[in-house]
Amino acid sequence: MTLRILVVGAGIAGLAAARGLRVAGFRPDVVESLPASMSPGAGIYLPGNASRALRLLGLDVPLRPLGDLIFRQVFLDTRGRELFEMDVAALWAGVGESRALSRADLQQVLLTGVGGEVRYETEVRDVQIVEGAAKVEFSTGAIAEYDLVVGADGRRSTIRDRIGLGGPATPTGQIVYRSVVSGGPPLTDWTAVLGRRAQFVAMPMGGRKIYCYADETAPETPNPADPRARLQEIFGSFGGPIPAILERIEKVSVARTDEVVLPTWSRGPVVLVGDAAHATAPTLAQGAAMSFEDGWVLGQELRQSQADIPGALRAYEERRRPRCAQVRDRTRERDRTRDVPPTLRDPMLRRRGLQIFTDHYKELVAPV
Ligand SMILES: Cc1cc2nc3c(=O)[nH]c(=O)nc-3n(C[C@H](O)[C@H](O)[C@H](O)COP(=O)(O)OP(=O)(O)OC[C@H]3O[C@@H](n4cnc5c(N)ncnc54)[C@H](O)[C@@H]3O)c2cc1C
Repeated sequence: MTLRILVVGAGIAGLAAARGLRVAGFRPDVVESLPASMSPGAGIYLPGNASRALRLLGLDVPLRPLGDLIFRQVFLDTRGRELFEMDVAALWAGVGESRALSRADLQQVLLTGVGGEVRYETEVRDVQIVEGAAKVEFSTGAIAEYDLVVGADGRRSTIRDRIGLGGPATPTGQIVYRSVVSGGPPLTDWTAVLGRRAQFVAMPMGGRKIYCYADETAPETPNPADPRARLQEIFGSFGGPIPAILERIEKVSVARTDEVVLPTWSRGPVVLVGDAAHATAPTLAQGAAMSFEDGWVLGQELRQSQADIPGALRAYEERRRPRCAQVRDRTRERDRTRDVPPTLRDPMLRRRGLQIFTDHYKELVAPV
């Protein structure tokens, strides 16, 4: 039986789902509302379980030459003194490499995985379930029927809304500042400088570039008009590599983060993957890994029981939900420590930081 499958969204989750489905023997259509020329900016950190999932999807080889491998995560106090360090190579030994790279490069790898077959500038406006099938209305005016629709349309998912799986995403109150710096200070480790309700993370991402990710908890504050000045204001007095990085920062992008928690991820022949189903704040850098794993598991479950789509979707959710809930819970735990004053938090992190932070990833070392 040839299933008519539509993947909505060609971000990380959509391309991973399309790849997972192709590996399982299906040929999904993929649509994306944005034009093909919109390449994602910034960098991305992929911990070991992301590499493992890309290997399952058969995409580890094109990834290998890209970005920089990360062997250690170093955590510093605001004066640049070490709190603790994590041996990430040991943490993910036997699972996969941890890597920082440009999002545009990752997108290219994922695109090759679907043979570049994406219909750009094609937005899904509506989806309805009619006699067990999904009737989809596109921005082009076309209407088509599918046996399965995969909503990979992000935190503000239209599919989630139309199909009644859940309302808007919940803001976490974090403002994130991202930048890529060329020719900054020499940096070999993923390095975080922890302030109160604010942190600055920098990591090498290949090509002598540094990917910077800084955030502050500011639920009531509007986004700053001058993000570069705001970074200087919050982090200007920080130690470690921060002063040398701030000196070279040029373009800064600003984003807000959200959380999505749903009672169920599918209805009839429509299912959600990636941020549309389970977005969290990116504190653990697990969004891409969870999306890759979603794509792999969805493809495998459908392959095993393709005559019974709702059954396959239930099996997909049963396998994925506990893991994504772990990521959400650990993310919340980690983010709660942001409110603790550094005078209390830092001595605790010096003593127990390694154990606590290692524990946050332990469950994810287990196979998908
Ligand atoms: C600031 C920040 C930093 C992060 N850093 C990391 C990190 O270092 N490591 C990590 O693993 N994760 C990180 N994440 C999380 C990670 O980026 C996401 O979890 C991951 O990209 C999965 O997103 P997605 O594909 O589900 O959604 P999106 O990236 O939002 O993609 C959805 C796609 O669907 C398209 N679309 C939307 N609606 C429609 C429609 N109706 N019709 C057609 N197309 C549509 C959109 O244009 C978009 O291309 C970060 C997130 C943020 C916000």
